[in-house]
Parts: sequence; C-alpha cells; structure tokens
Amino acid sequence: MYVSTRGLAPALDFERAMMTGLAADGGLYVPEAVPVMTAEQIAALAGLSFEEVAFRVMRPFVGGTFGDEEFRALIDAAYGAFGHAARVPLVQLAPNHFLLELFHGPTLAFKDVAMQLIGQLFQAALARTGGRITIVGATSGDTGSAAIEAFRGLRGVDVFILYPHGRVSEVQRRQMTTPQEANVHALALDGDFDDCQAALKAMFADRDFAEGVQLAGVNSINWARVLAQVVYYITAAVSLGAPHRPVSFTVPTGNFGDIYAGLIARRMGLPIEKLVIATNRNDILHRTMVTGEHRKEGVVPSISPSMDIQVSSNFERALFDAYGRDAHAVAADMASLREDGGFAVGQGAIETLRDWFASGRASEQETSATIARTLRETGELLCPHSAVGVHVAEQHLGPTPMVTLATAHPAKFPDAVEEATGIRPPLPPRMADLYDRPERVTQVPNDLPTLKALIRERIRP
Ligand SMILES: *Cc1c(COP(=O)(O)O)cnc(C)c1O
Repeated sequence: MYVSTRGLAPALDFERAMMTGLAADGGLYVPEAVPVMTAEQIAALAGLSFEEVAFRVMRPFVGGTFGDEEFRALIDAAYGAFGHAARVPLVQLAPNHFLLELFHGPTLAFKDVAMQLIGQLFQAALARTGGRITIVGATSGDTGSAAIEAFRGLRGVDVFILYPHGRVSEVQRRQMTTPQEANVHALALDGDFDDCQAALKAMFADRDFAEGVQLAGVNSINWARVLAQVVYYITAAVSLGAPHRPVSFTVPTGNFGDIYAGLIARRMGLPIEKLVIATNRNDILHRTMVTGEHRKEGVVPSISPSMDIQVSSNFERALFDAYGRDAHAVAADMASLREDGGFAVGQGAIETLRDWFASGRASEQETSATIARTLRETGELLCPHSAVGVHVAEQHLGPTPMVTLATAHPAKFPDAVEEATGIRPPLPPRMADLYDRPERVTQVPNDLPTLKALIRERIRP
C-alpha cells in the first residue's frame, strides 16, 4: 500500500496511487514499506537483460495490480523503442568514473525511461476498466515530449501538452508537434512556463472540469515514475560489482525525482556509498544541505534549463523519511514554504539528510568548461545537465566507483554544446528527419475558459 507524506489522504494500492498522482491532501504517495532484496537476489541480476532486471526489481512494488506475465509484456513494450540494446549503457570516463547514458529513449532524455513504462501501465489499467482519461501536462520542454511519446496512439487516452509559445528549443518543439496521432494535442500558450503551470493547476482545482474530462497527471511526483527510475541504479551498480562492492552516484537534480529513486535503491539493499545531489546555479537543494534552510529564490535561466526550478516537489518524500515519517512535520514545513517561501529543516532531519546525501553545484562557466574538457580528455560529448553532474562528481571521486547520470543527449541542447566545444551535435540517425516532419500545433491564448472549452471539444469519447 501507498501512504501520503501529509498523512490525511487514504492509503491506496499501486494502481490507484499511479492513476491519482498527487494525493488528495496535497502530499505525495510513498510505499508503506520498501521491499528489500537480499545480496543473493542482487547478485543474481548480473548478466540479465535490462527488462528482466526491471521486472524483478519492480515486481514487489506493484502488488496485485498486474499479473507476472502481463507485467513482463508491458515492460518489454516500454523499452522496445530505445535506440540501444543495453537500454541504459555505462561508459567509462576515468579509472573510477563512469557515465550512465539514460538518453537513448525516443525523446533523448532520461524521462523516457519512466514515461515509456507509465504509458504502457496506464493503458493496461484503463483497458481493464474500459475507462478513458485526459492527460494534461505543462512543460518547459522535456516532460512534454516524453509524455507525448509515451501516450501517442494509445487507446483510452488523450494527451494535451501546454508549452510556452516561442520559449522551447526547436528540437523540443518539434518533438511535441510532429507526432501525427489524433490523441496528441500540442498547445502553444501565449505566455511563459509559469502561465502554463498556473493553467494546469487551475484545471485540476476545478473539480467539475477535472471529473468531466477524467483529468490525470503524469508529472514527476507520480510514484510509478520514481519506481521505474530505481531500476537503472541497480543495473549500473551490479555491472560494477554490487553487491560485492559499493558504488556511488552523482545525479543532476531539479525536481528530486531521479535522485530520490537512488535513495529507494539503497533502501532496497543496494550498497550505494555516496549519493550526490548536483545542481546548477538554481541551487536550492545544495543550499539546503549546506545551511539547513530550504528557501526559495527566483529562478535564473541557465544552460541546463531542465534543472531550473525553485520548487523541488519530490524533496518532500525525502523529508518525510528524514522526519521518521512524521506527516505533521512535513505538512507544517510545506505550509511555511507556501506562505513564507521557506523553512528550517528540523535538526535531527537535516543530520539524517546529510548522512544520506552529499551535494554540490556547478556555475555556468564550470558547466561549459566541463563539456569542453570531457570532450578533450575522453571523446564524450556531454549535454549541459550531464556536465553539471560530471563537474560535481569530480569533487567526490575516491576508491569507490562513481557513476554520473547522463540525463539528456547532447543533440537535445545543441546551442550550449556548440558554444562550449565548437561542435554542433547531430541527432541520432533514427530521428534525423525531425526537421523535415510536418508540425501540428494549436496556438492558444492565456485564457482558462478558452483552454477548457478546447479540451472538452477535442477529447474523443
Ligand atoms: C528533468 C531533468 C532533470 C532533473 O530531473 P529531476 O528528476 O527533476 O531531478 C535533469 N536533466 C534533464 C535533462 C531533465 O530533463
């Protein structure tokens, strides 16, 4: 069963936690107990396919929602579109430093790993009940394209993605506007990302509308997304010698979903020594670890835009654990964050968090310099997010192998990469025609009634 971090929403099984997303009390769902794998079970994963490891790792979390055969088939369908046989290959940067390439999915960012699976799981759950849903998402780029790729053409689902008109990269835009399936609706909103998010929130808050169109969310607080991300910590660590020797990870972090999955992997029994939070100049998480004070500042645009955040939603899950699962303490902190812009993490909890996580930040110059130097020294071309990770990881190298998560393909952020290296990274061959595919998009005013009317009219019964 899954419980809310704020303690007031009902406990739900895996299926309902997945379909619900945000808990009714504003909290996030977490497992009541994390299943543990023995050292023998972890050792037995060596040499298995990514899909088989995914099945064994996630199976205990899904309870009775899917039968074994059904679950295996959904996992196979999810990762079939990845452009690499290993799905998430590990490459070596230095004697004790490795890069985990999570960007071989259809939209070239790590969000595909979870979103491709979510698409399959949602479709299977809906097929069983004969139900349908409307997914509406707001995006500054990567989440929207990953959601569209995951849900395009699926039965029982319409997917609407709101992005700020003129403010996403050309690759990101084309990934959202070129799918031709009738259930995909790319909406270019006249406004910025905050306007898109505000419109989304208002739609969820309007209960008549939300129930009328069966609104569902797939943003990064969805538990099923966190779960799917646990798998690659385990495949990477096992290939470097776990459970017989420990491994460390550095994670370029924004909404804290990816690194929280690492904490779950450790709790399942994986010997993770250091788990390092890497932030760009928007460093609320690094500052929290250093000062004990979690306080919002304005978002400053960076060359690693997918980490430009000031509200790091999944941090709430780690906080809940650090407070010994005291939902009252979490709810009080979240109220302070909303009303006063921040809070001081309780004394015991901050010590626990420092025990679980190390942290660091990379400036814009350090990020660019890391892209250039890594290319020179290793031949690897990093995206700016992965470069933030590599820069921070280099301050935490030691005898234990370090794995830095590479969260996007360099071709997804060609301007920053070209600026740093003079090289404009080409798209992989399987999507080389992205610039020639016809685009399909509806431009919408920043006006809630118009948006709601458009969604009502477009959904297919
Ligand atoms: C979303 C994203 C991140 C941040 O991941 P979180 O789970 O939000 O911490 C980092 N890099 C890229 C390329 C992303 O798209």
